[in-house]
Amino acid sequence: MKIHNFSAGPCILPPEVLNEAAAAVNDFNGLGLSLIEISHRSKDFVAVMEEARSAVKELLNLPERFDVLFLQGGASLGFYTAAMNLLPEGGKAAYVDSGTWSAKAIKEAKLLGNIDVVGSSKATNYDGIPAFNAPEAGTSYLHYTSNNTIFGTQFSGTPEAGVPLVADMSSDIFSRTFDANPFHLIYAGAQKNMGPAGTVMYAFDREAMGHTGRTIPSYLDLTVHAGKDSMFNTPPVFPVYVTLLTLRWMKANGGVAAMQQRNEAKSALIYTEIDRNPLFEGHAQVDSRSHMNATFRLTDESKAERFDALWQSAGISGLKGHRSVGGYRASMYNALPLESVQTLVDVMQALESEG
Ligand SMILES: *Cc1c(COP(=O)(O)O)cnc(C)c1O
Repeated sequence: MKIHNFSAGPCILPPEVLNEAAAAVNDFNGLGLSLIEISHRSKDFVAVMEEARSAVKELLNLPERFDVLFLQGGASLGFYTAAMNLLPEGGKAAYVDSGTWSAKAIKEAKLLGNIDVVGSSKATNYDGIPAFNAPEAGTSYLHYTSNNTIFGTQFSGTPEAGVPLVADMSSDIFSRTFDANPFHLIYAGAQKNMGPAGTVMYAFDREAMGHTGRTIPSYLDLTVHAGKDSMFNTPPVFPVYVTLLTLRWMKANGGVAAMQQRNEAKSALIYTEIDRNPLFEGHAQVDSRSHMNATFRLTDESKAERFDALWQSAGISGLKGHRSVGGYRASMYNALPLESVQTLVDVMQALESEG
């Protein structure tokens, strides 16, 4: 039976990518060696890193002044790294608190400077993207989480803040087009729309770096990594390679604009059903709904056992909601086909017709 993978992360990758990755683990480029047993300084792997970095620039249409890196530590180290590289000693930054990951970013940044939380939706269990106050004079950047994976909310576009932007785009990078010009830094863990866990992508304006006045440990200094072409130390070779395969897959399938069209069709299908079917209600406010993660619950909890049995027998996997929201979460990353969302909608309708 075909499995429909709605996991929130790590999550679905294109089948072509998995096949190619599996083959490269046995024999990479016909070398008679595995991808994971060759030197990261070999010309075959250097070519992987260079193509991955340039594919990001191309797919995101990044300005010339941007650099792209693939490092370790996940988005969770990115919270600290972002502030380390962009928040001057004694300086101030503005943060929007729109979910668990935003709150974690705020906690780390507070270790390094004055953090002004300019808006928060915590009081309503993060059911929407909060309105936020304009950052005060002297604010170095505004940080936000573009898509709140746990709560199923998403900024509808790039916020206007009047200061440079920094964004954690872990769960919606490459899912829709945007203009990178207002950003000083974008970071994203690989395991939602790019590849396996184990690498985090940083894309940043190199002119914005190096002005904090603090001594930065080498591994946390983005300019150190940029100066070494993302090869300051041994990079996470397998996650970077699988990410490259996914980037190639996106390019071959119409790029980010085509991903966005597919994602909008999938999210329209599920939200239309959530709104139509009296057995279900959404968690997120309608104007904050995410195209990547749809959060919803049953209006009658006594039907949970039956619903769970129905979706499981339809081959649906990974639908359980995060413990802080409950209910269900359908994660519909780039690689998830429309057909999988249709299968879920069919199951929701089957539950309704049982009466
Ligand atoms: C998953 C996720 C993270 C955490 O990423 P790690 O790689 O586990 O550190 C951070 N932010 C967002 C928006 C996420 O979805």
